[in-house]
Amino acid sequence: RSDYCVKELNTFMRRRRDEAELSSATNAQRFAIGFAHSPIGVFELGEGLAVASANDAGCRLLGRENGDVVGRRFTGLFTPESLPSVMSRLHAIRQSFIRPTQAESESFEPVDENPELQLRMPDGQPGRWVSMTVAVLPERETRSDLLVQLIDITDERRSRTELEHRALHDELTGLPNRAMLLHHLQGALRRTEANRQTLAVMFLDLDKFKQVNDARGHGAGDDLLRQVAERLRQERRAGDMIARLGGDEFVYVSEHLYGIGDARAVADRLLEAVKPPITVEGETFSVTLSIGVALARPSDDAETILRNADIAMYQAKDAGRNRWLEFKPSMREEVLRRFDQEATFGGAIERDELVLHYQPLLDLSDASIFGFEALVRWDHPTVGLIGPGEFLPVVQRLGLSQEVDLFVLEHATRQLRRWNDAHDDLLTLTINASAPSISNPAYAEAVEAAIVESGLRPEQIVVEVTEQEAVAAELAVEVIGRLREIGASVAIDDFGTGQSSFAQVATLEFDVLKIDRTIIQKIDTRQGRNVIRALVELARSMKATTVAEGIESDEELMAVRALGADFAQGYKIGRPVSARNAERYVLKTVAT
Ligand code: C2E
Ligand code: MG
Ligand code: MG
Repeated sequence: RSDYCVKELNTFMRRRRDEAELSSATNAQRFAIGFAHSPIGVFELGEGLAVASANDAGCRLLGRENGDVVGRRFTGLFTPESLPSVMSRLHAIRQSFIRPTQAESESFEPVDENPELQLRMPDGQPGRWVSMTVAVLPERETRSDLLVQLIDITDERRSRTELEHRALHDELTGLPNRAMLLHHLQGALRRTEANRQTLAVMFLDLDKFKQVNDARGHGAGDDLLRQVAERLRQERRAGDMIARLGGDEFVYVSEHLYGIGDARAVADRLLEAVKPPITVEGETFSVTLSIGVALARPSDDAETILRNADIAMYQAKDAGRNRWLEFKPSMREEVLRRFDQEATFGGAIERDELVLHYQPLLDLSDASIFGFEALVRWDHPTVGLIGPGEFLPVVQRLGLSQEVDLFVLEHATRQLRRWNDAHDDLLTLTINASAPSISNPAYAEAVEAAIVESGLRPEQIVVEVTEQEAVAAELAVEVIGRLREIGASVAIDDFGTGQSSFAQVATLEFDVLKIDRTIIQKIDTRQGRNVIRALVELARSMKATTVAEGIESDEELMAVRALGADFAQGYKIGRPVSARNAERYVLKTVAT
C-alpha cells in the first residue's frame, strides 16, 4: 500500500515537472518535447537527406536504436518498391522550398495524396506500412531543413485488404468469387486476343451434390465443398484461375492453351482430381463432376463464354455425368427448344429480364443518324439473349403482348429523354406495337402519357405496326388515328411481306412506310427496283416517307438512295446494340 503511494507521488511529481517545463519552455524546447513524446514517428532530415534526429516512435517503427537511425540516409529506410514514391515526395517539397514564414510552416502542408509506403527492417525484410507527411522547417539553429512524419497504418491497411479480399472471394472455400472471375475473364479475353492462344472456360458442377446436402445436412455439404475446392486448387496451373460461383458450381479458366487438345487434358485432370473418395463426418463419398468446356471465339464477352460453358455442362449431365463436353452452337438451340418458354416467361418482366437494343436509322438526305428503333430481347438467365422472333409468339400465347409493349414504351422513352438531354433533341424513337396493343385505345393513351412523362415532343415518337396487323386488327384504324392526333407518327412495318393489296393499304393513314428486307434484297433485279420505286411513289402520294429495311451492303445503300428512299436501316448502317453502345454510336457520328 505504501509502495503504491510512493509510485503515485512520483508520477504526480513528474507530471508537475513536465508541466512546469512546458510552461517555461521556449519554442525550441516545446518542439523538442513534442518531438520526443509524439506517438507518430518524427524525423528531421538534413543535408543529403541524412536523418539528423529521430524520436522514439520513429525508431520503434524501424526496429532500430536511435544511434542506428541518426546519420542514415532516410531513403534507405524503405523497401525498394516504396522508394520511388518517397523520392518523388521529397523532391516535390524540396523544389517548392521557398523559406516559408513561421505561420506557413506551422500549418504542415502535406503534399498531394498520401501513398502507402513500406519500411525496411534491419534484416532487409519489409516491415510496417506508413503514410508520410513532409514539411519544410523554417530556418533554425540546427541545419535540418525537412521534418518528416510517419504514421503507422499497418493495421488499418490489413483490415482494408481483408475487406477487399472478402469482396472478391468466396467465404466457404476462399476461392475467387463470381465478381473476381468476371474481372479476370475480361482481362484474359483481351490477352488471348493479343497473343493468339486459346482461352478455355470450364464450367464444373458436382454430380448429385444435392443428395449429400439433403441427406447429411448443410454442415456436411459445406465440408465436402471445401475439400473438393482444395483438390481443384491443387490442379490449378500457373496463370489459370479456379473460382466458385456458388452452390456446387466452380469455374476453371485457362488462357495458355493451344487448342481443344490442351483443354481436354486439363478437363481430364479435373475429373480425376475429385475421384478419390472424400471423407466427411466419418463417412466416405465418391464425387464426380460434369464439365462444360467453351473455347473463346473472337466476339465473345465474359458473360457469353461463361454461359456457353454452362450450357455444355448441362449437356454433359444429360449425357450421363462424370464427363466433359465441348460447347457447340447447336447446343444452345437444343436447350432453347427444350426449355419451356411458356413456363419461364411468367415474371420475366418483373425480374427485369427484358432488355432493349437500339438500331440506328440513317437519314439519306444528309447521312446523319435520324434516330433509333427499340427492339426487345429476353435476357434469359441460362440461355442468354433470346430474340423477339423466338419469344414474342410465346408472349402472345400467354396474353402478355400489351405488358411487353408497355414495358418497351416506358423504357425506350426514358432512354431517348437521356439521349436528347445530351444531344440537343435531335433523335427520333421508333417502337413496335403488337396486334393486341394496336387494337386497344388504351395503348394510344399510354403513348400520350409516356410522351408527357418523359418530356419528349410527340413528333419524336414513331409507332410501328406490321402491315398484316394494321390491316387485320379491328380497332387499328381508330387507334392509329388517335396516335396521329396526339402528334406521334405511325409506320407500316415489314411492308411487302403481308398478303394485303395496295388498295387495302391505301385505306390506312400512316406517316412512314418501311419496305421489308425481302423486297430490298431483290434490288439487283430490274423488277425489284421497279417495286421499290412504286412503293416510294405510293408513300409520296400519301405524304409519307419511306425506310429501306435490312440494308447489308454499300450497293444496297446506294441503290435505295438512288430510288428515292428517305431513310435506311440495316446491319450495314448499324446492328441493334445495347443502349450504352448505341450512345457511343451517336457520339461518334456527331463528332465526325
Ligand atoms: P422489325 O420491326 O422489322 O425489326 C427489324 C428486324 O430486322 C430486327 O430483328 C433487326 O435486328 C433485323 N435487322 C435489322 N437490320 C438487318 C439487316 O441488315 N439484315 C437482317 N438480316 N436483319 C436485320 P429483331 O430484333 O429480331 O426483331 C424482329 C421483329 O420482332 C421486329 O421486326 C418486330 O416486328 C418484332 N419486335 C421487336 N421488338 C419488338 C417490341 O418491342 N414489341 C413488339 N411488339 N415487337 C417487337
Ligand atoms: Mg419494327
Ligand atoms: Mg421491319
